[in-house]
Amino acid sequence: MTDSINGTAQHVVEATSVDKWYGDLHVLDDVSLTVKEQEVVVIVGPSGSGKSTFLRCLNHLERIDRGEILVNGHSIGYRNVRGKLVEDTERRIAKQRMEVGMVFQRFNLFPHLTTLENITVAPVLVRGVSREQAKETGMRLLERVGLESKASSYPSHLSGGQQQRVAIARALAMQPKIMLFDEPTSALDPEMIGEVLEVMKDLAQTGMTMVVVTHEMAFAREVADEVVMMDRGRIIERAAPTEFFGAPGHERTQQFLERILR
Ligand code: ADP
Ligand code: MG
Repeated sequence: MTDSINGTAQHVVEATSVDKWYGDLHVLDDVSLTVKEQEVVVIVGPSGSGKSTFLRCLNHLERIDRGEILVNGHSIGYRNVRGKLVEDTERRIAKQRMEVGMVFQRFNLFPHLTTLENITVAPVLVRGVSREQAKETGMRLLERVGLESKASSYPSHLSGGQQQRVAIARALAMQPKIMLFDEPTSALDPEMIGEVLEVMKDLAQTGMTMVVVTHEMAFAREVADEVVMMDRGRIIERAAPTEFFGAPGHERTQQFLERILR
């Protein structure tokens, strides 16, 4: 079922003809992407192709130079004033960001807070949830990522995989409409990658809308509804996993897959 805000069915993410430059570098070149509710889109592509930049634009951590990004039907970061894009107020942007959970390669947990406190701090301060309620939800989320026994541990006493699972729980605590993952397992020792992917898979199965940048092709094959290939700032291919891995249409996709699956 597609949710609706204005009475019309819509996409959770609708990026249309997005362009972004860093000086002379055309880092996003006419990027359009839609993500439907409960859909899992995996973005792959060589290093430097603009994957992180694109994710950051979805959260308005980066500005765009042209095009439009709608999240839940609302323009993110900008308002359209008589055909011109005007940057939104910080307050509105902060509100929009609550809808978008983000998990990075580096977990960035607060080192001086316990696991549970890491999860409850934002809901209490930003969403205005009561401490009791935040704790209750926090414990449920810790259970969900298999870490309820670590509620009072500090991040430095957790493994990398455990810290990343806490980071996922922390993002979920804000009740986002969509979760963005930017290479969430790239900084982990190999033996910890599986436990994080398991949590993500579980999340996908329970209907979370997700955009995942990863080099874990087995995950993409198994969990993605669609796989998107980025190359030099452009989306050059978008297909269901069977087609994407079985018969990639673009030569650069074939080359990329050969390199990465070798
Ligand atoms: P990916 O995540 O696919 O590896 P990125 O989005 O991180 O790619 O980067 C795309 C390109 O933009 C790279 O060439 C990178 O060096 C460049 N880039 C990223 N961030 C900045 C920045 N803040 N200023 C200038 N160039 C940047
Ligand atoms: Mg990146």
